[in-house]
Amino acid sequence: MSLLSDVRDLFSGLEQEVPLLDGRWKRYVNFDNAATTPPFKAVIDCANQAFNWYSSVHRGMGFKSQLSTRLYEHCRDLVLRFVYADPSHHTLIFCSNTTDAINRLCCSLSRNEGEVVLTTVMEHHSNLLPWRFSGRIDYVNIHPLDGSLDIEHLESKLREHAGKVKLVAVTGASNVTGFISPIREIAAITHHYGARLLVDAAQLIAHRPVSMGTPKDPECIDFLVFSGHKMYAPFGSGVLIGPRECFTKDVPFPPGGGSVDLVTMNEIVWASVPEKYEAGTPNLIGVIALSKAVQTLQSLGMENIAEHERELTGKALRLLSRIQGIKISGNTDPALSRDRVGVISFISQHVDHALLAAVLSYEYGIGVRTGCFCAHLYVAELLGLGGGKMAPYITQIRRGNYQHLPGLIRLSLGLYNTAEEIEYFAEAVEKIVTYGSQGRYSFDKRTHLYVPEKFSFDFDSVFTL
Ligand code: PMP
Repeated sequence: MSLLSDVRDLFSGLEQEVPLLDGRWKRYVNFDNAATTPPFKAVIDCANQAFNWYSSVHRGMGFKSQLSTRLYEHCRDLVLRFVYADPSHHTLIFCSNTTDAINRLCCSLSRNEGEVVLTTVMEHHSNLLPWRFSGRIDYVNIHPLDGSLDIEHLESKLREHAGKVKLVAVTGASNVTGFISPIREIAAITHHYGARLLVDAAQLIAHRPVSMGTPKDPECIDFLVFSGHKMYAPFGSGVLIGPRECFTKDVPFPPGGGSVDLVTMNEIVWASVPEKYEAGTPNLIGVIALSKAVQTLQSLGMENIAEHERELTGKALRLLSRIQGIKISGNTDPALSRDRVGVISFISQHVDHALLAAVLSYEYGIGVRTGCFCAHLYVAELLGLGGGKMAPYITQIRRGNYQHLPGLIRLSLGLYNTAEEIEYFAEAVEKIVTYGSQGRYSFDKRTHLYVPEKFSFDFDSVFTL
């Protein structure tokens, strides 16, 4: 018996039916939670109530403005406590998502000649490209067999760049294989070599308890980033947490209204941290939504959520690995599902990944993602296409041909998914790879998607503005 039952009612939209190719409507089965999650009803209700009091943060004297400011600061406190940060040491900067948070960190850290940022080949592009454009970067490898991070390689890179590594930037959990990084171990090694650690918790924060640890603890996390929309809170907010002392740049990024106390023609007196790094009108509703999601997750219990998702992940691994011609990337042992979040990527030896995803959508009402999931280096390694073997695909894309590109199909779980949905998914995959599809599909060169011939969803009849 799962520790979490009857949780579906906590979410909005889960009962929504979608049209299928054969004319039937079917309750949507969403296995694309790694991309974004449906909202908690509590989050929507709370945002709706907040709209009555909604006003500008930090600048107004009116009652609503003062209340909005109090709410905003209360949320900051609440989120800091959620990840066991130390408010006397850490600061929390509200951003719009993980990508924005990493870019801001990237622009906020001081830059010294010869310094290196160590990242890994398993990163999402959001934890890769910002570093690639901001100085020297080097990569930590993965173990080719199971896609896990090669800790010994991390240590050898730290030794190689002795004293020059300013930051080790790793994902908390992979958006491709669900691999959970051994954060404590990585932190200890990173700190031993005098570097700081950034954990991209976009895929971790809603699925496992996360603790930043006390600043003196060698196993602590220095910087943590995550997004609200992957933790059941839409409205566009994200979080960057780090030691206050690291945000000392003369000119913050982005500079603008709200980041200053006084401006003259010749002088600028910057506001104190975190306001200095939060230029522009803050996204109060987004921040409230994220904080309400935090409270809801806390009331369910992060350990209960983790245990529930471990069970589901184990089941999905067991069922999928029994299907002929399905190859799961990364660690496939259900007994090891404790070490991974509910993100499972695979290929079929018989059906193109993009076609399989289309058939799942049009004929079974299942939402998954396909492709390289903004983690091209990692997917290339997992598919044996590392070391320059992607070159032909670069040429192909430059010629405008997006068909038959390498990629995987990804199932990603949210805490509301059920064992029955996983069984339905595995049955659907098995039927497709064994018997094919009902419809005939062709590749649409404009959208780069497979679509059934003589059929298209009438999206406007369902919802439009
Ligand atoms: N890091 C990881 C591991 C992710 O999975 C994602 C989103 N897929 C991001 C960063 C970027 O998150 P966002 O799109 O919310 O900025």
